[in-house]
Amino acid sequence: MAEKMKAVQIVKPEELRIIEMDKPVIDGKNNVLVKIKAAGICGSDVGIYHGTNAAATYPRVIGHEMVGEVVEAGETATKVKVGDRVIIDQVTACGKCYACRHGRPNVCQHLAVRGVHIEGGYREYMAVPDTDCYLLPDQLRYEDAVLIEPTTIAIQACSRAEISAEDEVLIMGVGALGTRMLSIAKLSGAKIIVADVVDDKLQEALDSGADYAINLLKENIDEKVKEYTTDAYGPTLSIDCACTKDSLGTLIRVTGNAGRVITMGFSVAPTEVTQFGITSKELDIRGSRLQNRKFQKAIDLINEGKLDLDHKISHTFHFLDAQKAFDFNDSRDPSIRKIVLTFDD
Ligand code: MN
Repeated sequence: MAEKMKAVQIVKPEELRIIEMDKPVIDGKNNVLVKIKAAGICGSDVGIYHGTNAAATYPRVIGHEMVGEVVEAGETATKVKVGDRVIIDQVTACGKCYACRHGRPNVCQHLAVRGVHIEGGYREYMAVPDTDCYLLPDQLRYEDAVLIEPTTIAIQACSRAEISAEDEVLIMGVGALGTRMLSIAKLSGAKIIVADVVDDKLQEALDSGADYAINLLKENIDEKVKEYTTDAYGPTLSIDCACTKDSLGTLIRVTGNAGRVITMGFSVAPTEVTQFGITSKELDIRGSRLQNRKFQKAIDLINEGKLDLDHKISHTFHFLDAQKAFDFNDSRDPSIRKIVLTFDD
């Protein structure tokens, strides 16, 4: 009989369960076994739990920000060895479709994302290809290392945006994703304006290098972006890390002529935008999904001392207490920045 392990499964929207499932075994394709040490809770995990993530299928072992230790490596595994500390890429792709042939497996026609379409990281062990594993920086704790994943998402968005030092960037929302976006966008040398509804988050963003902050509840964003950009031009690049009902419309309205607007949300709620808003300024509206082989880039930035992920998470819960962790997240406690599940024995 197969060995068993524990996992966190979303049975259907609003129903989270700790289940027993077969412990995976390695084979020719999934040639390394990783003992999971930590896994982040992302907005998209919360969306799957609440049934608002249009991409998810159920029942599902969720979690796509997963790090652990290699405990078994097959003969074909060359990239990592037993004892290595690794983060696992969440993207699996067919390699054959139009997107894959054009080097964009993150939007593969047959995309299977760990924790969304196939089983993810909220479980004790995962068997994966060695090529999907990336070595963690030595000094980085497992809990902090989960932030490499949202960092790759930020690198992807900045890459889609073709960000440059000349840009004046508006980052809408400085939660977990917006904070990562700020640190990556900052590396380009661009001016950065952040907008949010929580003063503490705005202050933290200013402390982390944002040039200007706008409180959307207290200030008029249309006026403020004019004040903060050269010749009242408006941002040349706007990145939507809030993904609220009217964030896209707002960004289309405030972004300057010939600018770019990057969307990252997964909501299927209709939002009101006008053709005039896009055409008249010849805006580029670009989606940015997941990441396209950006893990090594993120890890290099840490190893080069350009990026610091130490002690940025706010809360940890043992994975068997996942229900408590998701309930706590739903409480919208203002102290929440990033919640991480741990797997200590
Ligand atoms: Mn994530």
